[in-house]
Amino acid sequence: DPFFYGSYMHMHERLAHRYRTVVVPGVTSVSAAAAALGRPLVERDEVLTVLPATLPVDELARRLADTDAAAVLKLGRTFGSLREAAERAGALDAMYYVERASTDSQRVAPLAEVAPETVPYFSLALRPSPLAGATMAREAAATPGLPLDPAASGDPGEAVVGPGTGEVVVVGLGPAGRPWLTPQAQEALADATDLVGYGPYLDRVAANSRQRRHPSDNRVESERAAFALDMARGGRRVAVVSSGDPGVFAMASAVLEVAVEPRWKDVRVRVLPGLTAAHAVASRVGAPLGHDYCVLSLSDRLKPWEVIAARLTAAATADLVLAIYNPASRSRVWQVAAARDLLLKHRSPDTPVVVGRDVGGSAERITVTRLAELDPAIVDMRCLLLVGSSQTQVVQRGDGTSVVFTPRRYGGLG
Ligand code: SAH
Repeated sequence: DPFFYGSYMHMHERLAHRYRTVVVPGVTSVSAAAAALGRPLVERDEVLTVLPATLPVDELARRLADTDAAAVLKLGRTFGSLREAAERAGALDAMYYVERASTDSQRVAPLAEVAPETVPYFSLALRPSPLAGATMAREAAATPGLPLDPAASGDPGEAVVGPGTGEVVVVGLGPAGRPWLTPQAQEALADATDLVGYGPYLDRVAANSRQRRHPSDNRVESERAAFALDMARGGRRVAVVSSGDPGVFAMASAVLEVAVEPRWKDVRVRVLPGLTAAHAVASRVGAPLGHDYCVLSLSDRLKPWEVIAARLTAAATADLVLAIYNPASRSRVWQVAAARDLLLKHRSPDTPVVVGRDVGGSAERITVTRLAELDPAIVDMRCLLLVGSSQTQVVQRGDGTSVVFTPRRYGGLG
């Protein structure tokens, strides 16, 4: 394409304001190389980075490490530094070399196998879509007669489903945002034929026209689990999504509880971890969970309040830091004040409390306060509370911000 590292653009800059010019768009070498490889370039919310190999090695390595897919142009004498950068970025094995794409003398090879002295200017290096690559490798493996090398297979086509291929994979999306979604979780989501979960959580997964989505209400957990297991038994690959970590007050237990029924004993179930909200909130203020802590849900929907009260008291007397999930909801409003008052019977009014709301999301708000001053009005279902121990400190930094941390040593030991 003339406007893609094309020399015509220099003429254009000089002449276009003086003469009538028409630029006819073309197919770039990047597209031609992806077609030659038979590998999708970018899928869903993946990022493609286009790099000239003339950049310094450090810069190339940094950018290769920071992208999903990449196209590196202007090879030739620069090939040595590209190879070194790919190696440093840990990307060498994922990269391919394409020479004279779409011509009769087209050549395609894994980048690592290319001899530098044979590389002409008309060549480029490509790191195709990691997500599509994972799906293609898997489908090639599940389809007898298809070559196993994903680079050698063509159109990924219809998802492979059938008896024996089904499974339920319970995936944690993290508390918010793509940076907190692990590459492993992303791969499992891309690989699924069906997505099951609470509607707002499913909305966080990038659209993929190959998949069916089955949004549901936030309750009906066991029905959702049975629905997923049933589809998996029929050969579909079902991802059940949870926010945060799926094992923390979420879908992993719900699925496993239902999966113990004899009719589902042969359905494969996997659980993939996610970043849990407590860790995300803690990181925003420092390291309040740096020593022993306990995790509690304040919801009395699935356990009686007496049990919650007994556990709060036990944690308070054991001087544990507390991470409190589900502190309130629209219909559950009195629990935060009740918990605060219970804790105050055993803990100093000065105990640091962190309220993290929608951490990582657009409505993020972090409040650092004292236990005695904890105002239930600022707490809703999108909040998580961290209550310090007797050792937890709030310290002002030079720039006026404060950090909260619980020291590594307890009571001056060590
Ligand atoms: N499995 C999830 C927890 C589900 S319970 C996890 O591991 O994080 C739902 C509770 O998680 C919410 O009431 C809130 O206490 C907490 N939570 C989830 N995402 C959050 C976020 N982005 N910011 C603050 N709290 C969050």
